[in-house]
Amino acid sequence: MASLVNAWFGLHARDLPWRRDGFGAWGVLVSEFMLQQTPVTRVIPHLEAWLTRWPTPADLAAVPPGEAVRAWATLGYPRRALWLHAAAVEITENHGGIVPQDVGVLLTLTGIGDYTARAVAAFAYGHRHPVVDTNTRRVIARCVAGQAEPAPPSRTRDLAAMNALLPADVRAAAVFNAGAMELGALVCTSARPRCADCPLAALCAWRAAGYPEYQGQKKT
Ligand code: SF4
Repeated sequence: MASLVNAWFGLHARDLPWRRDGFGAWGVLVSEFMLQQTPVTRVIPHLEAWLTRWPTPADLAAVPPGEAVRAWATLGYPRRALWLHAAAVEITENHGGIVPQDVGVLLTLTGIGDYTARAVAAFAYGHRHPVVDTNTRRVIARCVAGQAEPAPPSRTRDLAAMNALLPADVRAAAVFNAGAMELGALVCTSARPRCADCPLAALCAWRAAGYPEYQGQKKT
C-alpha cells in the first residue's frame, strides 16, 4: 500500500510551501498551527507574510503577543496566534531558538498536541512516526477496514493502524505520512471518492465490497 501511495504522491502532490526543500522546522510548525482550523488556500498567503516578518522563533518572541494576534488577521480562532507566540518564547528561552525534534519535547510547548508534534517531527525532521489526520483515517478506513467512514477518532487505534502500514525506511515513511493525507484530501474525499484515479483501487476493501453504507455522491 505504501509504495503505491508514495509513487502516486511523487506524481500528484500539490506544490505546497511546507513541502519544499529547505522550508525549515519553524515554517513547518507555523504552517501546522495555521492549518489546524483553516483551509490550505487561505493559509498560504498568511504563512508567507508571517515568515517574512518573523523568520525565526526568536523574531516572533521579541514582539508583544498582540502583534501576533493582529497579524493572524482573518485566519480565525486567534487563540492559535497567542499559543504560537508562547511556543516561540519557549523555543527561544528553553531550546536555543531551535524547534525541537523530539515528539515528547514538542508536546511540552504551548498549543502543540499529539498530531502537531508528530507532524513537525516527521515533516520537518524526517523522523519515522505515524502521523494521522482526518484524511488519513478515511483512507485507512476504506482501503484497509472496508468502511465508508472511519470510526470516531482514537489516538491509540489510529496510530496503531498507521504504524502497521508505515514503511521501515525512514524516508519512505515520511513520504507515506504525507501521501496518505494527500490522497484523502484530493482523491478519497468524504463526499466524492474518485476511485478511477486512485492508486489503491485494486486493493481497496471498501471498493471490493461494493461500497457498503455509502451516503455520499456517486463515485467516479
Ligand atoms: S479506491 Fe476509492 S474508496 Fe478506496 S481508497 Fe481509493 S478513492 Fe478511496
